Formats: sequence, C-alpha cells, structure tokens
Amino acid sequence: MSKSSFKNTIGIKVDVDTHMGMQKGVPALLEMFSRYNIQVSFFIPMGRDNTGRTVKRIFIRKGFLKKASRVGVLKTYGLRTLLYGILLRGPEIAKRAVHLIQEIIKEGHEVGIHGYDHVYWHDHIKHLSKEKTERILKDSVRVYKEITGKAPLSFAAPGWMINPHALDFFQKNGFVYTSDTRGDLPFYPVMEKNRFSIIQIPTTLPTLDEVVGIEGDNPVMLAEYFLTLLKDDLNILTVHAELEGNRWKKFLEHFIKNSMERGFVFKRLIDVADELKNYGKLPFCEISFGTVRGRAGEVSCHSPPLEF
Ligand SMILES: [Zn+2]
Repeated sequence: MSKSSFKNTIGIKVDVDTHMGMQKGVPALLEMFSRYNIQVSFFIPMGRDNTGRTVKRIFIRKGFLKKASRVGVLKTYGLRTLLYGILLRGPEIAKRAVHLIQEIIKEGHEVGIHGYDHVYWHDHIKHLSKEKTERILKDSVRVYKEITGKAPLSFAAPGWMINPHALDFFQKNGFVYTSDTRGDLPFYPVMEKNRFSIIQIPTTLPTLDEVVGIEGDNPVMLAEYFLTLLKDDLNILTVHAELEGNRWKKFLEHFIKNSMERGFVFKRLIDVADELKNYGKLPFCEISFGTVRGRAGEVSCHSPPLEF
C-alpha cells in the first residue's frame, strides 16, 4: 500500500460493550455523526450483557482497579450494568436493539460483530479451543443474520484479544476484514505460524479510557491531545458507546470537528478494507500479545512487516 492511498483519513470504530451503551450511547452517537455527516463502523456483541463478571478482574488483574477508578466505573456503567451476569440476568444486547441496529444501517454506517459474550471472549479467547471458538462465532453469525438479514463482513475482537482459530473462521466464512489488534498499519496476519488472507485493520490511536487522568482530565484537553497523534495517512480511533456516547460526548465532538477543520476525512472501516483489497499490497505481520500504556492486561499487537 502506498502511503498516499489514505491521505488524512480517520476511521471511527464504535465498540458497544453493554446493553446500556446500546440503548443510550448509540442514539446519542448517531445524532452526532449525522450532524457532522460522517459514516463510521459500529461493533455490537450478539449475546448477553455479562458486564458484572468483569468484577473478578479487580482481584486478578494488576492495574485494573487503578484504571477503573480513573475512568469512574460506577458513573460510567451504572449499578444495574455491574450486576448483569452475576445478580441479574444480562439482557441480550443486539436482539433487544433490532430497531436501533436497523437505524444504524439506514444512516449509512457499518455494523459488525463485537463477539457474543464480551466478557467471556476477553477473558478466555486466548486459550480457547477451535471447537469452542467456532461455536461462539457461529452463534454470533446466526444472530447477526437474524437481525440484519445479511451475512456479516466484519468483526472486532472484544478487548483486542484474538486467536488463530477465529482468524481461520473469518477467512472461511466470507468476512472482508477484522479489527482485533493494536498497531499502526493494516496487514495480513500471521499467528502461531499460520498465514491468513483476511485483512487486519488495527486500532492505531489510544482509547480515551487509557489516557484519561494521564494526558488530561477534561474533554477538550484530551481531544486536543488526540489531534496531536494523528498521522497524515490512515488513523483508526476506537470509541466506546458507554463513554463517548455518554459522559464523554464533548471529547468526541471536539475531536471530529477539529480534525475535519484540519482536512481529515472519515471513512467506514469496510470502505477502507475494500480499497485495500482492490488497490493495496499489504504486508504480513505477526500477531502476538503485548501491553499498551494505560490498559490493564494484554492486547493483541503486531510485529513490523515480515520478510519472506
Ligand atoms: Zn469492547
């Protein structure tokens, strides 16, 4: 891919993690995107909201509590969401939002899959067997088809955790690209010595929750910090319906408005992937697990381009 094929481009990837994020955050984001006339990519879990089960990360994961208090977990998610999957049966995120998903599509945005059970995927996918991985993905595809009437073309891994069985599934089931890693350029993945021909589009920018309280604590200051990180080619920003669709709307709005004023254009990730497929020559990069600043636990990252 020549550097110039994506001049000053931003892809916004909206991760919906919870029922509350779907019901309250998504409409607020749709309103904002329509005001700026931009199209983005939404990723939605196809199963139940089991956010309450993340509570055990407080005890097993170094740094989780520190990050949780910086972001204000209770204010962000609300008590009810924190009880889903432990004391309350969590609602089905996608199935209870059919009208909203249809509205997202009607507005010209993309809808992809963000796992089935977000918490389970995040905590277990690294070591999950081929059979269990495929079962989760088949369930996700089934629900997606029921709701949209179409086969899914894209997937974004919850918590940026992925395994080679999932990549194999995407490749064999007509997905155009997936976005499961943190890094700086689109590539074809190599994982545990397997080479895949499914395009991988990494999140290139940090997420708001990783820098809040570190690079600033008000929305405008943080948006200004993100603007300094923009490259003149392709940038992928992951936002969360629970944050930027709620208490941190002002951050995203300032970021969109000011990046547009600086000449950046917004593209859906599926359009980025189509361009890459048609014109691009992508490198192979190896996926492994690493850490990023401000985030507790591991995420999937990529190596520099490999030489064969
Ligand atoms: Zn997520």
